[in-house]
Amino acid sequence: MPAITNKQQLLTASVDRLRKRFPLPAPAADGESGRTVLEELIYAACREGTTTADADRAYAALRAAFVDWNEVRVSTVPEVGEVLRPLPQPGGRAKRIIALLQAVFEERYSFDLGDVVKKGLKDTARKLRFYKDGVDDYAVAWVVQRTLGGHAVPLDGPTVRVLRRLGVVEAADADAPEAPEAMRGTVEHLIPKAKDAEFTELFSVHAKELCVDGVPHCPLCPLKADCPTGHEVLAKKPAEPKPKPKPR
Ligand code: SF4
Repeated sequence: MPAITNKQQLLTASVDRLRKRFPLPAPAADGESGRTVLEELIYAACREGTTTADADRAYAALRAAFVDWNEVRVSTVPEVGEVLRPLPQPGGRAKRIIALLQAVFEERYSFDLGDVVKKGLKDTARKLRFYKDGVDDYAVAWVVQRTLGGHAVPLDGPTVRVLRRLGVVEAADADAPEAPEAMRGTVEHLIPKAKDAEFTELFSVHAKELCVDGVPHCPLCPLKADCPTGHEVLAKKPAEPKPKPKPR
């Protein structure tokens, strides 16, 4: 049985253990990325479902391949998607980025969203959701956490996978009609603001390296002592080796 059953304590202990396993550079403080709000939304489209290292590479490739954001806007999904490889689902990400640029351009004839951030956190988040084809809940939470100085925990598929396996969120939560915003609210209550960016970084790397899709690498995991799924995986007997065919 896992020793820690309190979800808040479990997440605090998980961040501490993952920090030791995956020593990462400190996440950029509020506004230190040098990206504008629009660029942070585009970066979030690269970052969702992957890690900061992979997203940095893809975002840099995007900046290098096109003269400016307008050139990205008028490019085709395959053209932009090709640049975003090897990120998973590059076409979906490209579609989202182009849709965002198109929506912002049609509204403003520019790519400046600077005035949006002056409205206060809630109003800014509501305004960003207005660009619904290019912005999802993850992107809004990413911008709140990284640019606006608010408390938010962007949840993508890999992070939710780890949280489910740890028993922090229920499988049904993700399928509820109000998900993912409701699930994010639950997780944000469990993680203090001072640790939200570090949690985001560490859980993404953990999901890529150990708590992978399919069969997780529980024997190597620093969270296995308190993870219900880890206990199940480790309790399973290894498969019996198949008998060798008898020589004729
Ligand atoms: S013990 Fe296994 S299932 Fe649990 S967090 Fe670690 S890798 Fe994932």
